[in-house]
Amino acid sequence: MNQLVDRWGRAHTYLRLSVTDRCNLQCNYCVAAQGIYTHVHREELLSFEEIERLTRLLANHGVHKVRLTGGEPLLRKGLPELVARLRTIETLNTIAMTTNGILLKNHIGELRRAGLTQLTISLDTLRPKRFARITGASVRLFFSVLEAVELAIAEGFQPLKLNVVVLRGFNEDELEDFVELTHRLPLNVRFIEFMPLQGNSWDRQRFIAAREMLERLAARYELRFLADATQVGGTTRDFQVPGYRGWISFIAPISAPFCYSCSRLRVTATGLLKVCLFAPPLVDLRRLLRTGATEEDIIGAIHNALQRKAVEHPPAEELSSVPTLPMTVIGG
Ligand code: SAM
Repeated sequence: MNQLVDRWGRAHTYLRLSVTDRCNLQCNYCVAAQGIYTHVHREELLSFEEIERLTRLLANHGVHKVRLTGGEPLLRKGLPELVARLRTIETLNTIAMTTNGILLKNHIGELRRAGLTQLTISLDTLRPKRFARITGASVRLFFSVLEAVELAIAEGFQPLKLNVVVLRGFNEDELEDFVELTHRLPLNVRFIEFMPLQGNSWDRQRFIAAREMLERLAARYELRFLADATQVGGTTRDFQVPGYRGWISFIAPISAPFCYSCSRLRVTATGLLKVCLFAPPLVDLRRLLRTGATEEDIIGAIHNALQRKAVEHPPAEELSSVPTLPMTVIGG
């Protein structure tokens, strides 16, 4: 088995797969500015057969973890069927999903039985009115997300990961409230730096570096250092308040990039391969899959793209003008 190694020696073992470009929330830091993007038609999405074939090929070359994302992945009909298909790939040890949780209640049992192994729910605020303000959705949906968190834990997704994008002037005053949530629940709360992506109106004023978050919490809590996963292909630096059931993590792609250990490949819902969140797509995998390309052709194209992967992404101020794709299309 040839591993998917780039010219900087990084092996790519983690596939992040968007299954739809549509979302049922309009988080104002995430959605693309008006007019920049229109949704694709169903037939343009990779089919479940195509996703399974592609994942199987990648698994033959060292990929052992897949994350389903979007858009909102639960908007894709029949998702448990896709999970079940991926489950048949023996060398995959993790099938994860990132969701906003709104539709989770109706699917969680089925997803679990189909073979979903890890779950991340995104929730940026614990205050209903703020939720409505940032997502453009009704306050009622905030309670659906809270319910989804409890359900996911009860269903055995432990630790459940909770993604929190921290924005100055929006939810920076809730860091402690999220820490307290790890007292009550076996959660891994992940504080994420706001990233610039095409069309998302990033600006320094709304950005808070992970160090500032950490210093603020360290002044209030005893924080025990657990691990630095960025050394081993992960994205987090992890801490725990002694005695609390869960723990917190910081993800600092902007102030302390972890490109040196990057192991991630991304495939958009229409089958475009991205070797870096912050770089333009490099290969149209859907075209290859639909025109009779062999395993060798497909892996060869991915391998070539990896040889063009930069050693690290450019600094924040340059990133918002890089023609990547909106986050909802790439799959966060
Ligand atoms: N709809 C799903 C959800 O809400 O989890 C999956 C897709 S969403 C794009 C994945 C994650 O990306 C979410 O946790 C979201 O908060 C995060 N995200 C989106 N835009 C971001 C940005 N500009 N900076 C940091 N995180 C971002």
